[in-house]
Amino acid sequence: MTTMVPAKAEPLAKELFGARKLPAAAAPAAYGFYSKGCLAGGIAIAPDGAHWQAMRLSRNRRWGHPDLIRLIERLSREAAQDGWPGLLVGDISQPRGGPMLSGHASHQIGLDADIWFTPMPNKRMSVAEREQVSAVSMLKGNTLYVDDRKWTRAHEAVLRRAAKYPEVERILVHPGIKKKLCDTVRGDRSWLHKIRPFWGHHYHFHVRIACPKGSTGCKPQDPTPRSEGCDDSLAWWFTEEPWRPSEGPEKPKARDVMTMAALPNACRAVLEAPAPPSEAAVTLAGPEGLPAQATRSAPALAGAADPASLLLSLQPADIPLPSPRPYR
Ligand SMILES: [Zn+2]
Repeated sequence: MTTMVPAKAEPLAKELFGARKLPAAAAPAAYGFYSKGCLAGGIAIAPDGAHWQAMRLSRNRRWGHPDLIRLIERLSREAAQDGWPGLLVGDISQPRGGPMLSGHASHQIGLDADIWFTPMPNKRMSVAEREQVSAVSMLKGNTLYVDDRKWTRAHEAVLRRAAKYPEVERILVHPGIKKKLCDTVRGDRSWLHKIRPFWGHHYHFHVRIACPKGSTGCKPQDPTPRSEGCDDSLAWWFTEEPWRPSEGPEKPKARDVMTMAALPNACRAVLEAPAPPSEAAVTLAGPEGLPAQATRSAPALAGAADPASLLLSLQPADIPLPSPRPYR
């Protein structure tokens, strides 16, 4: 009689990376591509800064390459000078990057960050509020067009500020938002070529930086065309084609089949590397720290001026679900 030893299925990379609570203590490096790779030497952005609040803390996706985390801090400060009260920071990456258990095809190498189109309210949200509060769609109802009651010059300004950083290669926004910028930006339009239309991205914009210096294992993405992109390539998004449901059986998502073999070899070492002594040791708090009155338990400020009231009064709008396509 022979004993059958069942072959153990190769574990999915998303489960291995999703289980790591702290980064790989190593020199900062992005390995692989935005949608297939991992991150060494990641740091976290603190839940609170003078000009930002991180959302959905339970996801533990506040991690990124130090160049990206510093850029978010800088954007939060400089956007505040432009009149954007502060950033609500969405998902960045897992501590060691890699594919995620849910959401996002990209965000794997610590170079992608989601920033809400909702400005930071003038109170500090509790941990529970940061889980529950919904972002507000910038679209008008069930259409592909921006709602002019929600869109402001401050939205344009925060996108311009982010797009003009040389490290930022592209910013993904909903096609309706790209169209709004094409139609309304006056003066300097040199940054519009970095604003790329893509599915989703009407609740948040997605900032992607280039492969950092020293990350020799990072695979660059093709540069965006130099033109503004306010042409046929944008008009295509307002046809039926991009929104048509795909035919035939749905293919499984890459993250649901990806094993370690699909990732760069360096990612095995990243996965097994020791962790830093604590999260605090690798968290960026920002040079200004927090204003003295800002605490997690601060009461909501009364009055319609508080953008948080907008958060709660508007229902997120739905748009047709697109068929999956590769990231741009
Ligand atoms: Zn994103």
